[in-house]
Amino acid sequence: MLLCWMLFEKNKAATTLGSVYEAVRQACQAAGREPIPILAVSKNQSVERILPLLDVGHRWFGENRVQEAMNKWSSLCLQYPDLQLHLIGPLQTNKVKQALKLFDVIESVDRPQLVLALAKEWIKGDEKTCKILIQVNTGREPQKSGVLSENLTTLVDLCRMHALPLTGLMCIPPAHEDPTHHFQLLAGLAHTHNLSDLSMGMSSDYPIAIAHGASWIRLGTAFWPSS
Ligand SMILES: *Cc1c(COP(=O)(O)O)cnc(C)c1O
Repeated sequence: MLLCWMLFEKNKAATTLGSVYEAVRQACQAAGREPIPILAVSKNQSVERILPLLDVGHRWFGENRVQEAMNKWSSLCLQYPDLQLHLIGPLQTNKVKQALKLFDVIESVDRPQLVLALAKEWIKGDEKTCKILIQVNTGREPQKSGVLSENLTTLVDLCRMHALPLTGLMCIPPAHEDPTHHFQLLAGLAHTHNLSDLSMGMSSDYPIAIAHGASWIRLGTAFWPSS
C-alpha cells in the first residue's frame, strides 16, 4: 500500500514538474532566452509533499521562514548535497546565524541592521550562504518588507563595504497590479548597481518576469495548486 502511494506521488510529481518546466521553457523561448532555474516555493508544504519533487530530481527550493525551513530541511540538506535552498522571507537579526548555515542564497536583505548582523557572522567563515540579494519594495507597500528604491544605494554600499557576496535584487510586486512596471524598475536598479541576479516572477506573472530578465522565478502555487 505504502509503496503504491509513493509511486503514485512520484508519478504525480513527475507530471507536475514536467508541465511546470515545459510552461517555463515556453515562456523563456517566447522571450528569446535559454531556460532559467525555477525555485519551488515550499513554504507551508510538509516534507511529505516536498519529497516527491526531490525524488524526480528537482533541487531548487525557497522557504520564507527560518525556523520552518530548519525543521524541514536540516536533514534533507545532508541527503541531497546538491540542493539549492533560498530564503525568500523576512530575516530577523537573531536568526542570522542559523540562516547562514542553512541557506545557499538569502534573497531578503532589506535594512542596514541586518547587513551588519550578517557581516558580523560572516567573518567567522563557516557559512553556507554564497549569495545575497537585496529585496526592494518596488510598490512602496507599508506592510511589505524590502528597501525603498531611494535607500538602495546606501544598502548596496554597506554590503560591499563588508564584502558580503551581494549579487542581485528581489521583488514582490503588489498583488493586484500589473507587475510589468515593477519588474522594469527592479531590472533598472540592478543594472545601475552592476548586479546580475534578478529574482522576480511568481506563479501568476512569471512569463512577464522572464521577458524582463528574471534570473530565476519563484513558483509556489504552480507546484502545489491545491494548498
Ligand atoms: C509564496 C511566495 C512565492 C510563490 O508565490 P506563488 O504565487 O504561489 O507562486 C514567491 N515569492 C515569495 C517571496 C513568496 O512568499
